[in-house]
Amino acid sequence: MSFAVDLHLHSNCSDGAYSPRELVSNAKAVGLKVIALTDHDSVEGVAEAVAAGKEYGVEVIPGVELSLTYEEYSGIHLLGYYLDWRTPKLNEALTELRRVRARRGEMIVEKINRLLKKEDKAPLDIGELRAKAKGSVGRPHISQLLIEKGYAEYQQEAFDRYLVPCNVPKKKLSPIEGVALIEAARGIAVLAHPTILTDERRPESAADQLKLIHYMLAQGVEGLEAVYSGYDQSQIDFYRDMARKHNLLITAGSDFHRADGKIELGRLGMGISIPTDIVQRLKERYREKYGNYPDLKTTAYI
Ligand SMILES: [Zn+2]
Ligand SMILES: [Zn+2]
Repeated sequence: MSFAVDLHLHSNCSDGAYSPRELVSNAKAVGLKVIALTDHDSVEGVAEAVAAGKEYGVEVIPGVELSLTYEEYSGIHLLGYYLDWRTPKLNEALTELRRVRARRGEMIVEKINRLLKKEDKAPLDIGELRAKAKGSVGRPHISQLLIEKGYAEYQQEAFDRYLVPCNVPKKKLSPIEGVALIEAARGIAVLAHPTILTDERRPESAADQLKLIHYMLAQGVEGLEAVYSGYDQSQIDFYRDMARKHNLLITAGSDFHRADGKIELGRLGMGISIPTDIVQRLKERYREKYGNYPDLKTTAYI
């Protein structure tokens, strides 16, 4: 089932395959009415996506997905919606994070190459990876190349055999820094995929999840991504109930990166029911918090 809203999409400004403009055009083609571009630690594609949205008649919400860390939770992802992507403080902080991340990717490749040497296999070529990534090398690019070289058959194997043992910890923001950065750009902070909280994507116990969610709410997070690709109706209902109890927003997103047959653009689950007023409530919250959107000419949708 396709739903007309998809508020979690990646472009090639982070680790997605399509340019922001292509993404908007594809969104139009599958019948989406409202999308949000939420690249990892980057707002570089937002201006292009917003402009393409006007051209194609798709409402584009400016967004970002920040990687945060807290205690044992190494992969907390925080979505920021309706942020003013031109805010200097936001851009400076994200540029610095990307600079550090670029170095991390290369450090991981060096460790993997040492392991490949032990296995009598040819090393990965960092130049090839840079070209593939069109900039900073991330773990998805490395896993893709490992598969292409025949060192792993599929992504999970690439992670289990190489990327997890050769990991280099990421420099990440804390939850409070993440919320502050989103709010500095007048955005709304929403916890992404509440079941995935570590880089290894290990399943958390329900108690751990709740502990973390409550911690995040105390830091100023205002919503939960209750609808996420792969979530079933009982999970969605669980987060909706929680949102009701704590006066939180809920959002819905696929986390689409590329057409790999796993996650499809706008595809949020079979036969699940999704509230239709998600975007409306996000806009209402924005107005309560910040007033009208500052530049109606640029984003005429709020
Ligand atoms: Zn994420
Ligand atoms: Zn994502």
